[in-house]
Parts: sequence; C-alpha cells; structure tokens
Amino acid sequence: MEFALLNGEIIDRSEAKVDVEDRGYQFGDGVYEVIRIYNGKMFTIDEHLERFVKSAESIGITIPFTSLQLSEMLEELLIKNNLETGNIYMQVTRGIAPRNHVFPTGNVVPTLVAYTIKGVRPLESLKSGVKAILTEDIRWLRCDIKSLNLLGNLLAKQKASEQGCFEAIQHRGDDVTEGSSSNIFIVKNGMVITHESNNLILKGITKDVILELCIKNNIQVQERTFSLAELEEAEEVFLSSTTSEVMPVIEIEGKKIRAGVPGPITQKLQGLFEKEIEKQCGLLVNKVY
Ligand code: PMP
Repeated sequence: MEFALLNGEIIDRSEAKVDVEDRGYQFGDGVYEVIRIYNGKMFTIDEHLERFVKSAESIGITIPFTSLQLSEMLEELLIKNNLETGNIYMQVTRGIAPRNHVFPTGNVVPTLVAYTIKGVRPLESLKSGVKAILTEDIRWLRCDIKSLNLLGNLLAKQKASEQGCFEAIQHRGDDVTEGSSSNIFIVKNGMVITHESNNLILKGITKDVILELCIKNNIQVQERTFSLAELEEAEEVFLSSTTSEVMPVIEIEGKKIRAGVPGPITQKLQGLFEKEIEKQCGLLVNKVY
C-alpha cells in the first residue's frame, strides 16, 4: 500500500482526497515543494522547509506545523513508502471555504498534503545534455513564491515539449530569467553567471548549492541578469533543479552550443554536485562522473 500525509496523519494514499472547495483546487491558493530523495534520505531538506515556510508566509498562510514536525512526518512517510530514490511532493493550501476571492475568516485550517514519487536520476540526459527553446516570460511578478499557480510555466514547458525539447528558457524582453521549471546558467569567459534571486525567478535550492560549490572550488561566479545575446554567445549553458540537478543544455532553438556536447565547467560542477549528494545522502550507485 502507498501512503500519503494529510493534515498531520499518514493515511492510505487512495483515501487522501481533496474537497471541491479547497482553495488550492479552486484558485491555486497555496504553495508547494519538491524534495529529492537519494538512498532513502532527503537532500537539502532544511533549505526546502525554509523556502516552504517563507513561500506560505508571503501569501499569508501559516503552516500549522513546525519545520521539525514536518521533517519528522516526511521521514516517517519515506520509511512507510520504502522510498529509495525519488521525490516527495508537498503542498499547503489556504484550506476549505465557500468560494470567494477574499481570504476566509475564522477557523479555516490550511490543507497540508505530501506524497512520494519513485524516480531514478536522469543519467542519460545528465551525460549527453538536453535541448531548449526560448519563450517570452509571461508570468506574474512574484516568481520568487513557489506558488501552485503554474499556468505560465506549463504553457512554456508544453511549447518546449511540442518542439521535442526538454526545457523552455524564458526571457523578459532581452533579459533571460529562468526555465519553466529550472534556473538557467551560462559560462562566459570562464565565469558562471545566473540571474540574481529576486522577484522574477525562483530562488532555486539547487542554484544555491551550485553557487556555493563554485565559491568553494574557485570557479568564478556572478549573480546578475544576462541578455539573450549573452546566452547565444555563451561558452556553456546548463540548467538546475531538484530533479534535473546540474543539466547541460546543448542546443537552443536548434542552434548547438559547443558543437552539442556538455562543457568542462558544467561537467566539473556535475561531479562536485554528486559529491555533495554523497556527503548528505551516502554513496551513489550510478554516477555521471
Ligand atoms: N525555477 C522554477 C520556475 C522551478 O519550478 C524550479 C523547480 N522547482 C526551479 C527554478 C529550481 O528550483 P529547485 O532547484 O529548488 O528545484
């Protein structure tokens, strides 16, 4: 049997049902996290919980559990579901109330749900890289909130998929922001560059791990807005996310980057990232490097 966490209780997943008047279901009025599991252990769990609480607070939702309680409940869920490699999906909504745009008053409790998804590392793509398209960033101006409202992201990803690509790299006019579900990095004159973490992008946990790895390993790094022209002329391009880790981008809009092979700095960071996983979660069986 598969289990899910619903409002603090671990229950049969098939019994974890949402009311039609849950505000997450009706308005996307909530926030979420995806946490990667390696060797049955949660990677960067503290950072994910911190962002979860921050996202919720920024839309006025108070999670009815402490971070410690959350991490203990997730741990129990992992064990019950016997998850070795995969993800935990967790979301909190403003709760169940008669449909009204205005926030409900009174004792409406947030709905908190978490469940597990089995999934291996995308080793083939990590080795050979992925293709991307470009698309205008049509999303709202609070992309720093990990909101359940993902229509802009979905439309971008769908467009990429229809063109046989893995990711859509979004830009506001001339400025590159982020992927539909990832952060974007370029290498220019040996320097790693990625958009600063402001309201226009999600402050990726993977992005922050990569920035730290760069600093610790004397790889020059800069957080700043970069242009479409800089993306086009980049020596290397890669994207990052919880599920994609450090993923080389080898082609954008049909144009190859570095003749279509992952670059040396990208590969170095992939190796360092694997070491970081091993530090937190134990030895990996299948590795890129
Ligand atoms: N930006 C967006 C829009 C995303 O959906 C994601 C994936 N969660 C990321 C960036 C990367 O964030 P993280 O490294 O925390 O998964």
